[in-house]
Amino acid sequence: MKTALLSIGDELLFGEVVDTNSARIAARLADEGIATARKLTVGDDEGEIAAALEELARGHDVVIATGGLGPTDDDVTARAVARATGRRLVLNEEAMGHLREFFVRLGREMHPANGRQCLLPAKAELIPNPTGTACGFHLLLDGCLLIFLPGVPTEMAVMLEETVVPLVLGRRGDSRRTRTWTLTVFGLSEAEIGARLADVDRSRPGLTVAYCVEFPMVQVKLRVTGEDEEALTALLEDGAALVRERLGGHVVAGDGETIDTTVARLFRETGMTLALAESCTGGLIAGRITAIPGSSAYFLLGAVTYANDAKARLLGVPQGLLAETGAVSAEVAKAMARGARQLAGSDLALAVTGIAGPEGGSPDKPVGTVFIALANRAGCSAKGYHFRGDRDRIRTITAVTAMDWL
Ligand code: ATP
Ligand code: MG
Repeated sequence: MKTALLSIGDELLFGEVVDTNSARIAARLADEGIATARKLTVGDDEGEIAAALEELARGHDVVIATGGLGPTDDDVTARAVARATGRRLVLNEEAMGHLREFFVRLGREMHPANGRQCLLPAKAELIPNPTGTACGFHLLLDGCLLIFLPGVPTEMAVMLEETVVPLVLGRRGDSRRTRTWTLTVFGLSEAEIGARLADVDRSRPGLTVAYCVEFPMVQVKLRVTGEDEEALTALLEDGAALVRERLGGHVVAGDGETIDTTVARLFRETGMTLALAESCTGGLIAGRITAIPGSSAYFLLGAVTYANDAKARLLGVPQGLLAETGAVSAEVAKAMARGARQLAGSDLALAVTGIAGPEGGSPDKPVGTVFIALANRAGCSAKGYHFRGDRDRIRTITAVTAMDWL
């Protein structure tokens, strides 16, 4: 099955908005074993959109387009589809019903302009939009299935999952399913991971392994295709067990999880509580922790102690120590962790202090020098790192390393 994606919007051509929709759709289709043959971007121009649709429909079985379904004058996708398919635009009663209901639920008056969104090509099949006003639709052009979704990424994603993926799989018409599990690996390079897993697909027929770098982590994707759900699951479980055996503690999150949700789950399971003291990460770690719903159950306090004085006054780091070692040392990290633990009364406290750069390095403590410390009831340990990269990368890798400690 040949599939193409069409992204519609002037903002995409002007570089004001990055086209995340097509990436998301392509990745989701790849999960189902469907490769995207082509991606195209056009502006909000009726002629351009119509021409792109005609061209893509000629060479592909499925075309998925996003954008330009809104109520404003610059949203012309429906008109372009009508032109390309030679259909009239008609008021779609089902879309109108959806729109009315949407505004009733919102408790707001519907603006008459919104009605424009319900002018769709004749005989288009509707794709419900549970979270927004613009319904999607699909229709056939010379045997090619054309699918249209709104541009808003969150709305598009829901519709993709609920309607489009089943629709495309139905179109493929074979009952084989592809399933993908993603394991997140941290602390090993892609090359090292590849070498350790080199024989996995050979030793497990039907299983393929792919890698995707998502700095500072690497995702290992295990993919299987077949008809028997149970056999697929068994093969994935077996493959995942083998990956964990080969990579050990470097696998920081299993399928459907991230390192952050894994940490959250561990805190919930153990009932432990946490405090943080951050210097060079400026709250990045607290941000990751609190981004997970339910974190108030275990996260008690996060202190961004940037100045030496704050480290001393808030966390009780001895001024003498700060003067002796500077703010970036294993001893200071430990004192910060102990101080945060005492301040919060938590089971655990983690602290980071380092030099994110670009200035502030010295020969014995270059930019990228970071110390991380963890305090618990039994004591406190610290470790030093030399991370490389710009400020952004050093801060990110420090935060992820800290999550890995937890
Ligand atoms: P609506 O007008 O109802 O919001 P629409 O289908 O007209 O829906 P657009 O107006 O094209 O959607 O875009 C809505 C929002 O989604 C805009 O903020 C736009 O920047 C963003 N957007 C559109 N296309 C993409 C894309 N391919 N990737 C990421 N964001 C996008
Ligand atoms: Mg638009």
